[in-house]
Amino acid sequence: MLRTIYTLILIVIVASTTAQTVTDRPKLVIGIVVDQMRWDYLYRYSDKYTSEGFKRLLNKGYSCEQTFINYFPSYTAPGHTAIYTGSVPAIHGITANDWFDRSEGKMVYCTEDTTVQSVGGSQKAGQQSPRRMYTSTICDELRLATNLQSKTIGVALKDRGSILPAGHTANAAYWYDGATGNWISSTYYMKELPMWVQQFNTQKLPTNYVKKNWNTLLEISKYYESTEDDKWYENTFSNEDKPVFEHKISEIKKQPLTEVLKATPFGNTLTLAFAKAAIIGDTLGNRGTTDFLTLSFSSTDYIGHQFGPNSVEAEDAYIRLDKELSEFIDFLNEKIGDGNFTIFLSADHGAAHAAGFSHENHLPAGNIFDKKLRHFTDSILQKNYQRKNLVSAVTNQQIILNHQALQAEKIDLDAACKLLTTELSKIEGVDRVISYNSLQQETMHSWFKECLSNQYKPNRTGDIQLLFHPAWLNDFEKGTTHGTIFPYDTHIPLLFYGWGVKHGKDYSRTYITDIAPTIAALLKIQMPNGTVGKPVTGILK
Ligand code: ZN
Ligand code: ZN
Repeated sequence: MLRTIYTLILIVIVASTTAQTVTDRPKLVIGIVVDQMRWDYLYRYSDKYTSEGFKRLLNKGYSCEQTFINYFPSYTAPGHTAIYTGSVPAIHGITANDWFDRSEGKMVYCTEDTTVQSVGGSQKAGQQSPRRMYTSTICDELRLATNLQSKTIGVALKDRGSILPAGHTANAAYWYDGATGNWISSTYYMKELPMWVQQFNTQKLPTNYVKKNWNTLLEISKYYESTEDDKWYENTFSNEDKPVFEHKISEIKKQPLTEVLKATPFGNTLTLAFAKAAIIGDTLGNRGTTDFLTLSFSSTDYIGHQFGPNSVEAEDAYIRLDKELSEFIDFLNEKIGDGNFTIFLSADHGAAHAAGFSHENHLPAGNIFDKKLRHFTDSILQKNYQRKNLVSAVTNQQIILNHQALQAEKIDLDAACKLLTTELSKIEGVDRVISYNSLQQETMHSWFKECLSNQYKPNRTGDIQLLFHPAWLNDFEKGTTHGTIFPYDTHIPLLFYGWGVKHGKDYSRTYITDIAPTIAALLKIQMPNGTVGKPVTGILK
């Protein structure tokens, strides 16, 4: 009898120590980026949210209420990279979505890679990899910490939203080919799509979603958080005269419907369906080690650009996303088990109000177009030096001068920069024009200086930086955009939920670069190799 009791005690002890090592880390980490989600959307549409979507994360998880992007520019590729590397463009190298690369002498796209081939899609859409990113991501570090036992998978409609987070050692990154409606990858990761991806693609879900057209989920009169539906400063779909519901997207003829899908909430629906298929297909979270799924919802960005933050369309997109998020967490509870997974949710940037909306409400705002900037810059240089082609590119609110041409013409770079900073600052809407050569000598707000220093990478940054007044938009007449260092673009949500996470709120200032080191602390793994942020210790149980 005594022996049986001892044996039982021993079994309990062994079982509890085994359980402890197993639960030392969550079974699955799900990183969620909502593309273009301003922090205020957590509260603005709160009355319309379910109790188990964003509110489940807020009410049971931990919210960092004052999280900011601490570098210029607030675009998608630097945003996703900062979240997962804990670093800034000056270190991780992803200085924008596209940049003029001095070493290559041309504009390049952040994930383009002609050394790899498309897998499952058109060549242009598929030739992508994370090679231009100089640092590891938190997913890489998890793989390294577990001797490559952990599985890490990136999922997003946008290639950059999937590839950069998942990192260099990712088992896979999948993104969406709008031309075909298929989820694809590249030979950087694999030779052919796994069976579960092929099967997912054969369902032709994009075409089915778009057939239903886009109407508001609730009665349209209930969208009192937004302006009236018909506003001149919203963009229409190509078959519309007015930007109003019902959006009869199924009748669009000018583009493939599979492409149209991206700018509707159904793009997010598709992303979640694919994420669920990935969890089942790759048995994520049920493999005896910690897996990592990076998920980015791109459609909120396309919708935001087209209609702006005060539109019924934006509100509808978030009401729908909240509902789907709630269903997704229920799915995770069922498949992985409540308390066995950790979620974090953030955004790569926010967005400004549409300039038309600002004007309508007597707020200062305006538009500045790259084409005009380019023309103006060329004409100033032409007038002073009687030479053409001294500018390599005007992009990312920067002027990139052609150094070889300047040298050949014996034109002093500093003198050219000085001339341009004086002349460009005369343009309406331009607040400051900074030459990177003299950034440290500028008398300006230290925060701006820090954000500009944080993006400076010699071969991937221009010579001259333009800073617009708040609410001035670059290259968007209707709809809206992002990219500045002002709060509407840089104040983002940051929520943690699930395994290892305390319930609470933090109102102190935290940064986008704190996310990766926080997850590293939670998982007890090394932080990514370019990390400059620090863990938000308040979340840790
Ligand atoms: Zn984005
Ligand atoms: Zn965007």
